[in-house]
Amino acid sequence: MVFIRISGRALINIHTANAEGAIGNYISLSKMYILRRLSDGKIDYFEEPVISGNMIKHWHAIETINLLLSMGYDKICEYCRRYIMYRSPLSFTDEFDYIKNCAIEDLHGFLSTETNIKRESIVKFSFMIPVEDVPSKYAAITHNRVGATKEGKIDEDIMMVYKREYASGLYGFSSILDLEYVGKSQSDPTKVLPIKDRRIRAKASITALANVFSGTFGACRARAIPVVKTIELIALISKKPIPNLVHGYYMDYLRDNALRIISMEETEIVSNDDYKVFIVGENPSDIFKEVGVKAIFCRDLVEALNKIAEVADTWLVKQ
Ligand SMILES: [Zn+2]
Repeated sequence: MVFIRISGRALINIHTANAEGAIGNYISLSKMYILRRLSDGKIDYFEEPVISGNMIKHWHAIETINLLLSMGYDKICEYCRRYIMYRSPLSFTDEFDYIKNCAIEDLHGFLSTETNIKRESIVKFSFMIPVEDVPSKYAAITHNRVGATKEGKIDEDIMMVYKREYASGLYGFSSILDLEYVGKSQSDPTKVLPIKDRRIRAKASITALANVFSGTFGACRARAIPVVKTIELIALISKKPIPNLVHGYYMDYLRDNALRIISMEETEIVSNDDYKVFIVGENPSDIFKEVGVKAIFCRDLVEALNKIAEVADTWLVKQ
């Protein structure tokens, strides 16, 4: 069995990843209320610009498609191939037929409104939100298009002034990949794709995470690719179904996660051979050492996720 849990933090400067459409000529960021524990022991609400799990999931699907195509894999339906994730316009009468025909319906789930056949997504994302200990900041920037007449006079008719909000902050994220179910029907688990399909889909879905968390997400990418640096990452792979990691939002998530892994061992949810932890960043390294969790230190998220992909591949083949 293969279950993966990811949690971490990324510095994100000047993003406009999720917006709420325009009111007049003003485009606001998507905001939501989040709860913070304060230094006086109280808890209070803060309104913060957030990055939706829906959008992260969309970009993960796109990056997975790109990686699969680059590996010469073609079991991707005509809509996903065009990055239109209808989930799903196909009209088969068995969940397994959808899985056979499209790696994205397999990994990202679907509900066919025509046939009522559904599949739960095996790749899941939380919202990315500004962390508990550092509130974000946001402001609007004015953009303008200036034109001139043939005589060189400013042409006010073609000027287009609009304002758009941008935010900067330290963002926490988390993700789940239940790759035990890749290529396997949920409604009838005896129906399973050949191992070569399962391996390539698992690999693409894990490595696509590195593309997403390094900044391939968000609206307005032509002019505002999020300025991202992933500074902390915990990537846990397990042969047993395990609890989720604590989201990178929480100020004490590193210690919480280290202690959770110790608790999982002590309560025999997992034994030493059942899991591996890969970490990025000095803070995770220091805290995991202090708590006594055996973790493999990686130089960046690309190395960590590729190592996870290698372990997942080995475990899928051995099943
Ligand atoms: Zn598809």
